[in-house]
Amino acid sequence: MISGFIEPDLAFDREHLWHPYSSMTEPATVWPVVSADGVRITLADGRELVDGMASWWCAVHGYNHPVLNAAVLEQLSRMSHVMFGGLTHGPAIELAKRLIKITPASLDKVFLADSGSVSVEVAIKMAIQYQQARGRTDKIRLLSLRSGYHGDTLGAMSVCDPDRGMHSLFSGILPQQYFVPAPQTRFDEDWNPDDVAPLRAMLEDKHAEIAALILEPVVQGAGGMRFYHPEYLKQARLLCDEFDVLLIADEIATGFGRSGKLFACEHAGIEPDIMCVGKALTGGYMTLAATLTNRHIGETISAGDAGCFMHGPTFMGSPVACRVACASLDLLFQNDWQSQVTALEAGLKAGLAPAAELASVKDVRVLGGIGVIELEEPVNTKVLQPACVERGIWVRPFAHNFYVMPPFVMGEEDLEFLTGNMIGALRETL
Ligand SMILES: *Cc1c(COP(=O)(O)O)cnc(C)c1O
Repeated sequence: MISGFIEPDLAFDREHLWHPYSSMTEPATVWPVVSADGVRITLADGRELVDGMASWWCAVHGYNHPVLNAAVLEQLSRMSHVMFGGLTHGPAIELAKRLIKITPASLDKVFLADSGSVSVEVAIKMAIQYQQARGRTDKIRLLSLRSGYHGDTLGAMSVCDPDRGMHSLFSGILPQQYFVPAPQTRFDEDWNPDDVAPLRAMLEDKHAEIAALILEPVVQGAGGMRFYHPEYLKQARLLCDEFDVLLIADEIATGFGRSGKLFACEHAGIEPDIMCVGKALTGGYMTLAATLTNRHIGETISAGDAGCFMHGPTFMGSPVACRVACASLDLLFQNDWQSQVTALEAGLKAGLAPAAELASVKDVRVLGGIGVIELEEPVNTKVLQPACVERGIWVRPFAHNFYVMPPFVMGEEDLEFLTGNMIGALRETL
């Protein structure tokens, strides 16, 4: 039996555990964590790091939150899990009520999935089953934007950026999809109508084969931390309608306030046909995601040959995950997420601005609770990451981007500490 605190066995970890995108022969450094509280992560040697990552966009309320802890414990004492086939429960129902209330009005059918990637698989299958059910068996491909990221499972991988993603490695097995260039007009620039021309051209040419366009609304995350003009999204919606193609919005990273709107689709005032949410859904407590769609798509799929939607994960609708998601969503509104994110945006803008002066910095940009320092060259993570830890901050740079998306609850002082030390670490390692 193990009980109480578990000492991290680093030697075992090195020898036997895969970490994300890691090597078994030359594993990169991992820092052992023993606890996390608020916006601080405590390492085994007692050092505290101010968290700039919110554990990959998830921990919006910070760690060890009393309300979220209580939600988990309360649910645990009733039931941790039951199968969702043939059974249902309050936590899943209450979560669906909340999601339907806060997402775009037409979305009112909810599929609960276990992770973001799975919710993308579900979205893709929904789009295909919908087209099949209306006799459009020729519409079997997805259209996606370059620089996009939608997850690591096979279907999701097939719609990620074809150059920066894993296409070459898995080319023989991935479904072949269509791609158009990433939107070029930045969020804060004047809209250039030519930006959407490649999308129109592609749809004119291939619409008969395309079931759906999938995109990350306004913020392209893991594929480059790019913020594009909301007008692109508005035009994409119009083009999808014109060419009888569904629009799938992947709000897994942007959902629940991160971009300054509750959902990034709101920047453009559009409603997608299918929407994926995940990441911050449970406040970073449990793995859970959801795929939402409208009544028309739900009913069309159900009237098709299969008579039902063909997906059903073992851990679908996990009661503990749903319960803590309900608590996290309630907390979001109690805490007035809008003013939290507005404050984050102001602090990130002020704190990261000095980076623009550094020679190797290409661009500094902030949107909502996302702050990005883009470098001319790919970041040397092996040098920059330890420098951050030495300075007491947790930031994990990726490709050309040294970026943060802190917990919404981060106060002014911690934010200044975080951004000031990001710039310090950059200066010292460039
Ligand atoms: C993280 C992410 C995913 C994948 O979610 P997982 O929970 O890691 O499977 C999909 N789409 C976007 C936009 C993401 O940021």
